[in-house]
Amino acid sequence: MVEAHLKYPILLSIAAAVLTLVLKSAAYFLTSSVGLLSDAVESLVNIIAAATAYLSLRYAARPVDESHTYGHEKIEFFSSGLEGVLIVVAAAAIAWYAGQRLLVPQPLRPLELGLALSLIASLLNGVVAVVLLRAGRRHGSIVLEADGWHLLTDVWTSAAVFGGLSLVWLTGLQLLDPLIALAVAVNILWTGFRLIRRSFDGLMDRALPPQEQAAVRAAIERHLGPNMDYHALRTRRAGRRRFVDFHLLVPGRLTVQEAHTLTGWIEESVRSALPDLEVTVHIEPIEDRASWRDSALLPLEEARRARSGMDAPSQGL
Ligand SMILES: [Zn+2]
Ligand SMILES: [Zn+2]
Repeated sequence: MVEAHLKYPILLSIAAAVLTLVLKSAAYFLTSSVGLLSDAVESLVNIIAAATAYLSLRYAARPVDESHTYGHEKIEFFSSGLEGVLIVVAAAAIAWYAGQRLLVPQPLRPLELGLALSLIASLLNGVVAVVLLRAGRRHGSIVLEADGWHLLTDVWTSAAVFGGLSLVWLTGLQLLDPLIALAVAVNILWTGFRLIRRSFDGLMDRALPPQEQAAVRAAIERHLGPNMDYHALRTRRAGRRRFVDFHLLVPGRLTVQEAHTLTGWIEESVRSALPDLEVTVHIEPIEDRASWRDSALLPLEEARRARSGMDAPSQGL
């Protein structure tokens, strides 16, 4: 289950998004402005985003079980991928509709009431965004903070639409309306692509970012004694959890007890380098040539060491 301090802010953001969608849709039907329609579509995207965030948090929080021994965090990549695709479709629909309006202009109905509704919706979003950001910071929740920042960017989008339509209202230049909608569509498209990319990286087990890998390597190297080495380091992420595994090469004469104690220190050191990290170590005798031929990663790592000017691994001592 999701803890209450995460649950209520997310439910609040979903409720606010539904209310915003109703207000903005009403604004569109009153004015027939594509600018306001694009703003309404963005609210719909927010509802989908908040709902999938909530559902995936619930699922990801499940403990490990016999059929999911690595945990359930990867669900986050499915939900953000789905969200990304929906967002791209929404952006394409707005762009198509706005393009039609550019080619075949249609007169706008009076804008005043629509603009007022849009303003109320934006104020509501702004307040909820601040609540989410505060709750996120207080509880150290990335999901809540991301939701809050997302909402805040939407407030800026709505403000831009509001400003543009106010200009239409003042000058009577109706061509501005589809142009505003196109700008909003491009903005939404960008959000969608970012989400799809994040899911792709997660599902493809992309390695941790270079600075995190460097922290892991430093944590391992801190405990390496003479005539010891490590290789075949693999890193990946699933939701908020990080997974690290590697081969630890030690002198073959060490007892199981000694090697395990050493491994315990190294594991502890790696775990304290980064939060939510799980580490698995494979121990092998450094003198055995077979230890140096057991991973497709070894040539890559050797090239990396050569590039960084370190000594080549002391192969087959
Ligand atoms: Zn153990
Ligand atoms: Zn090995």
